[in-house]
Amino acid sequence: MTHLVIVGGGLAAGTAVETLREEGFDGDVTVVTEERHPPYQRPPLSKGYLQGEEGTDAVILHPAQWYADNGVHLSTGVAVTALDPAAQTVTLDDGTTLPYDALLLATGASPRRLPIEGADLPGVHTLRRLDDADALRAELKDGGRRLVLIGSGWIGMEVAASARTLGNEVTILERDAVPLAAAVGARMGEMFRGLHLEHGVDLRASVGVERIAGTDRATGVVAGGETVPADLVLIGVGAVPNTKLAEAAGLAVSDGILTDAALRTGAPHVFAAGDVANAYHPVIQRHLRSEHWENARRSGAVAARSLLGIRASHDSIPYFYTDQFDLGMELSGYPPLMSDAGLVIRGDLSAREFIALWTDDGRVVGGMNVNVWDAGETVQQLIRSGQRVDAAALADPDVPLESLLQ
Ligand code: FAD
Repeated sequence: MTHLVIVGGGLAAGTAVETLREEGFDGDVTVVTEERHPPYQRPPLSKGYLQGEEGTDAVILHPAQWYADNGVHLSTGVAVTALDPAAQTVTLDDGTTLPYDALLLATGASPRRLPIEGADLPGVHTLRRLDDADALRAELKDGGRRLVLIGSGWIGMEVAASARTLGNEVTILERDAVPLAAAVGARMGEMFRGLHLEHGVDLRASVGVERIAGTDRATGVVAGGETVPADLVLIGVGAVPNTKLAEAAGLAVSDGILTDAALRTGAPHVFAAGDVANAYHPVIQRHLRSEHWENARRSGAVAARSLLGIRASHDSIPYFYTDQFDLGMELSGYPPLMSDAGLVIRGDLSAREFIALWTDDGRVVGGMNVNVWDAGETVQQLIRSGQRVDAAALADPDVPLESLLQ
């Protein structure tokens, strides 16, 4: 009987299991995850779950019983410590060796560490896991605390919004001149800056953090020669893919595990999906690693089909969403192709109700709908079509977006 093994406990792993069963595979499946929870999704951890509006049921994909009911062996709290592609086995930290016919590595990513003094003090947090969110929530839930965030990426900005909503004081210290500029460019980054300033976040840009002050516990962050007082600190300076296992096994790794569009690694019968996979994208013809929910979901499904020998290709347009204060947005596009030089705004930027479209040589390569709904699918169609569109028509809200599709 065929035995498929999935390493990881995130959305990519969870979706892969679902897809295996949906595709009618009735052989053995084992999921091994080092966390003590069944596979779960992370977006609520910086939003509704952190604010106490949602519980674990919004986070966990299926309760443990679902795996039992579907004949899936779920090993929680167990890490895979070694992979032997030649022998087709993985070794677990309880000493067990598990043979596989096909293996999916869905090991995700971990918060990037900041090599500064004080980073390990109590009161200094990172946010990746449910347990991290619980610890952070315990400190923020009653309001009145001083939170200093190091970094203004998506997680930093979302936590800032949640912490303010809970009535805490929030200071963000950002190394770059504009928050989120690496993700959405300077103009859209400025829009997010305005949103946070309006909601009372003290957002300080172009600031180099020197160290975290405190002896038994963090009491402040020293930056630009000044100490910003803190009751707690969150370091949110990005994530690094969990490639240790793959690297030690001799798999090709470069900013993630390199795969083809079917999510095959170079090793026979070994696949990768989710944040850890740097997959060849057949449309833009280069490797792309996406650290987003939708990528984990779609790549988990594609990998499952590939594991079963079904032809599948991970060729979807990267997609991301965020909710901060009263702003909701969806972003679709190919980040390497999106530059402010080709940015077109459709709608009211100052009222934060608009669609931003990034063009490259007259073609739409990215689109972000902000507090405008039902536009995401058309934006994706425009990107997918690859056709040239008139910039004036694109910017004109009186010209229906759909009409630009030929
Ligand atoms: P992960 O979710 O990281 O799961 C990997 C799992 O594998 C982990 O449980 C890990 O412990 C386990 N593992 C690793 N190595 C081993 C091993 N050797 N043995 C056993 N288990 C192992 N994306 C969006 O699009 N929109 C959002 O609003 C959004 N919000 C987010 C908020 C937060 C706080 C975070 C952290 C992420 C957010 N994301 C968001 C990103 C999204 O959650 C990730 O892209 C997604 O979690 C990736 O899923 P994954 O399955 O690839 O990896």
